[in-house]
Amino acid sequence: MSTTLANDRAAWLRGPACNCSTLPGATKDPWRIVLLGAPGVGKGTQAQLLSQKLGSCHLSTGDVFRAAKSLGEKNLTPAMNVAMACMKAGKLVPDVTVIDLVAERTKCLTCRGGFILDGFPRTVQQAESLQQMLQQQSLAMDGVVDFVMPIDQIVARLSGRRTCGGCKAVYHVTGMPPKVENVCDACGKGLIQREDDRPESIAVRLDAYARSTAPLIQFYDNLGLLLTIPAAGTPEDIFERTVEALRNAEALPESILSRTLN
Ligand code: AMP
Repeated sequence: MSTTLANDRAAWLRGPACNCSTLPGATKDPWRIVLLGAPGVGKGTQAQLLSQKLGSCHLSTGDVFRAAKSLGEKNLTPAMNVAMACMKAGKLVPDVTVIDLVAERTKCLTCRGGFILDGFPRTVQQAESLQQMLQQQSLAMDGVVDFVMPIDQIVARLSGRRTCGGCKAVYHVTGMPPKVENVCDACGKGLIQREDDRPESIAVRLDAYARSTAPLIQFYDNLGLLLTIPAAGTPEDIFERTVEALRNAEALPESILSRTLN
């Protein structure tokens, strides 16, 4: 697999006033992809692997909210403070806040390296706004990858997930445990459970997904962009499946396929 140095995504994580330390290399046909799937199916991991393979940045709206959280309540706008409360409860942040946040980051959508959106759009209103933003920039999307998994497996994944409080490495209490319980193998710091991975928040998140995000599958199917990928198995298995599906997607331009997926 070819790899590309990930940039620091400063313009995405910290907003339009910041510039990324390195920009992805210029390519004639950069990839523009959206990842869909319930929380816990492994979208973030697949986004990172795809980003390494395709050279496009991993743009997660959840990461933007988590970055904002570290600034502290006093430094946030009222809309961002509402967003923090929604996130903590596992609820969706209001559409207007998320759409404004992405619209402010149009330079990431138009970046010469393309994009891999993860966690946005999450409602039909967000998807319609994204289509408008892209059309205004005369850009088209290449594909929408929908990762699917049975609900009981999703709950088991989310409730067992632990993250290093230091380096953010991700573990699972049974599937991928650290060598020493609750201690990060990589940096030795303690492992924590994300607030929104607690049982009460998981139920709210999955409900929000079923009500608000599942309709997007039809939305993108109608546009001929949908690729459905079973998300069971190792991250490598899922990645291979995804690359294979992208390679076989008839709607994708030949030039892209021959360049990046050989
Ligand atoms: P994620 O890391 O994508 O699971 O996002 C974490 C949390 O951030 C979600 O549970 C929501 O509270 C919020 N969030 C992230 N992206 C969106 C979005 N597109 N629409 C609404 N809320 C979002």
